[in-house]
Amino acid sequence: MLVDSHCHLNFPDFKEDLDGVISRARQAGVGIMQTICTEMSEFDEVHGIAQCYEGIYCSVGVHPNDSGTQEIAKAEELIAKTSSAKVIGIGETGLDYHYETSDRAIQKVSFLEHIKAARVTGLPLIVHTRDADEDTVQILTEEMGKGAFKGLIHCFTSSKYLAEKALELGFYISLSGIISFKSAQAIRDAIVDAPLDRLLVETDAPYLAPVPHRGKRNEPSFVVHTNKMLADIKGISEEACAKATTENFFRLFDKVPYPAEGVAA
Ligand SMILES: [Zn+2]
Ligand SMILES: [Zn+2]
Repeated sequence: MLVDSHCHLNFPDFKEDLDGVISRARQAGVGIMQTICTEMSEFDEVHGIAQCYEGIYCSVGVHPNDSGTQEIAKAEELIAKTSSAKVIGIGETGLDYHYETSDRAIQKVSFLEHIKAARVTGLPLIVHTRDADEDTVQILTEEMGKGAFKGLIHCFTSSKYLAEKALELGFYISLSGIISFKSAQAIRDAIVDAPLDRLLVETDAPYLAPVPHRGKRNEPSFVVHTNKMLADIKGISEEACAKATTENFFRLFDKVPYPAEGVAA
């Protein structure tokens, strides 16, 4: 069994064939998918998809690139949405200095509201960080000192420095199809020593399709390729890697009921 810990099933790319996308994922062994919220206005749609399908869960949050286009969502608003059994994470939030479509100061305020919500609810914080390693580490470290919370760095593309700091803080690291790109040796190097019991896999679909689908629309079934790549990096079997990343998902996102039959390798 595999888990796609981060995808965007409500995006227009999937409007025509969502049922097909989900059944292909199941056929590929992807038992759980988390569809991620990027704007408060999107929440009902994202949550609606999670409500419709068994094994699909969702998050609540505002992407850093969208945080400047609307009023900043307060922790209380985020927390209120978590009363649903299908809402299992807070995010995606964080800092994106690559596109900088939102002012850095606004991104930080939004990030802090999400951290507050993660602390209060006990749900994992789903962190997106791009070209912002120093500030991300600084905020997570400072905030952890004020009261513990848990979380992950999603679609990891950062330095070994960020990986080590995140792991020190008890965070998990989620890897996307990017680890299969030829150009991504630095990312493979950054995570090769990361403990296997702290790694997850994701697609971030519809973006970032792994090799051999690179350049096409991504979908949750393709997480198989990312898992295989991670297995190669760690020098273990695909089955062992699937079992580990799936167990890690259930440990971190512990609002999701652990399957009665366990997690088969
Ligand atoms: Zn992201
Ligand atoms: Zn995303």
